[in-house]
Formats: sequence, structure tokens, C-alpha cells
Amino acid sequence: MSTIKKILITRQGRKFYAKNLNEDMHTQYGFIKKEELCKAKEGDLLKSNTKGEFFIFNPYFIDLYRKIKRDAQIIPLKDIGAIVAETGINKQSRVLDAGSGSGALACFLASIAKEVITYEIRNDFIEVVKSNIEFLGLKNIKIKKLDIYREIGDKNIHAIILDLPEPWNALENCAKALKFGGFLVSYSPSVPQVIDFVNAVRKNESFVYLKTSEVIEREWEVEERRVRPKSTGIGHSGFLSFARKVR
Ligand code: SAH
Repeated sequence: MSTIKKILITRQGRKFYAKNLNEDMHTQYGFIKKEELCKAKEGDLLKSNTKGEFFIFNPYFIDLYRKIKRDAQIIPLKDIGAIVAETGINKQSRVLDAGSGSGALACFLASIAKEVITYEIRNDFIEVVKSNIEFLGLKNIKIKKLDIYREIGDKNIHAIILDLPEPWNALENCAKALKFGGFLVSYSPSVPQVIDFVNAVRKNESFVYLKTSEVIEREWEVEERRVRPKSTGIGHSGFLSFARKVR
């Protein structure tokens, strides 16, 4: 995957990614000459051949994150926000995540945490995750080919996030891997998974169950005095169940 060198953004917020500053850049608002691209400084306003206008700046983590490969269904940002806020994952945290899928959650958490370890059983997904880690330039994330229902080789973990079909099967292993007070979070798209997970947590002496929630994000249209919720966009992603390891 080639790296992204610059972000170009129109006054309307449409974003374009410049990968090669030595080539003309084509957009639906016309093209920008490579000579212009090369010499542009952050904050400059570039003009295309059809008078399209673009501001230019260096990419942030989130700009690159939005371009990662997505082969498995990834956790949306609204849910990542809730996981980080509820568990307080920060630069001291060691975090474990399973399954990796495309590695979206693992990579996002690695941009915040001290260390992230991610487990995946499928070789094809492991390759996707590796290429996403490289694309984002992350150094504090390890991917391991492990079935979390069978084993967790890692210990002293502050938070484990499960995005798996049968998260209750990982409970015993998670109890061994987590530090006291450590968080276990399960992300599941459907109600029967929440029922089975929460019932299993409640029966397990190692954990105290905290809560299950769903994050609903409603985007609004703000155009002059036409201000109202957008008519598209609300969809279901998943439920988040939270527990803490206590013994
Ligand atoms: N949270 C991820 C998406 C996870 S998709 C993201 O944001 O990108 C679920 C993944 O779990 C799939 O890739 C699947 O192969 C993997 N998986 C299923 N069972 C597993 C197990 N027992 N151990 C490890 N990974 C597992």
C-alpha cells in the first residue's frame, strides 16, 4: 500500500489523498499540477485547472485510519469512543483484542495505548492486519495466530476487547490474562450473544458485571436555517457489555 503524503480538503469538507507529489492529482473538481503539489506548504490554498479550491495539510492518524483495508466488518468509531471512554485506556495501558479481523480496533487502540496484542485465527486476516499496521506505521502492536477460546499467552493486561461470535467461551482465559480491576469488553451485534455473555459473566466469580449499552449516533444536517437530523445514517452496529476482573 503506498503511503499518503498530503491531505487536500475543499471548503465543503471533501477530502482527497495525495499519494505521489510528483504526479498531477485528479479529482472531480479538476486536476492540480504536480508543480503546485510539490511546492505547496501546509495551509496553502491550491487551485485546480477548473478553479476548484483545496487546502493542504499533512495527514493525521485518523486520516490514514480511514483508508485502511477492511476485509472483516470493523467496529465503528462511535463504539471505539465508548470503549476508550469507559475503560480509560491510555498511554500506560496494555490491551488485548480478539479477533483482529481487519485490525481496525487494534490499530486505533495502539494509537492511544502503550501496547496492543491482537489474536486472530485466520491467515488471510492476519495478512490484512499486518499490512494495516505497516500502513499506519504502528510499532506497539503485535499480532498472534491464536484461538482465544483455547489460550491466551499474555498476562498483566489492563483491558481485553472481544469481537467474536462466542465471547463467553473466552471468559476463563480472559480472567487469567487480566490484572485485578482490568476491564473485559464484549462487542456483539445481536441480543442472543449479549444474553449468553452476560449470563456467563454473572456466573463467573472472577468478574463483576457492569453494564451493557448501545451507542446511537445521529448526524445532523446544518444548512443555513435548515437544521435537522439527516434522513439517512442511523444503523445498528453492536452492543457493548462491560465487566471487571476482581479475583
Ligand atoms: N474488531 C475487528 C473485527 C473483528 S471480526 C476490527 O475492528 O477490525 C471477528 C474476527 O474474529 C474474525 O476475523 C474471525 O476470524 C476472528 N475469530 C473468530 N473466532 C476467533 C477465536 N476463537 N480466536 C481469535 N479470533 C477469532
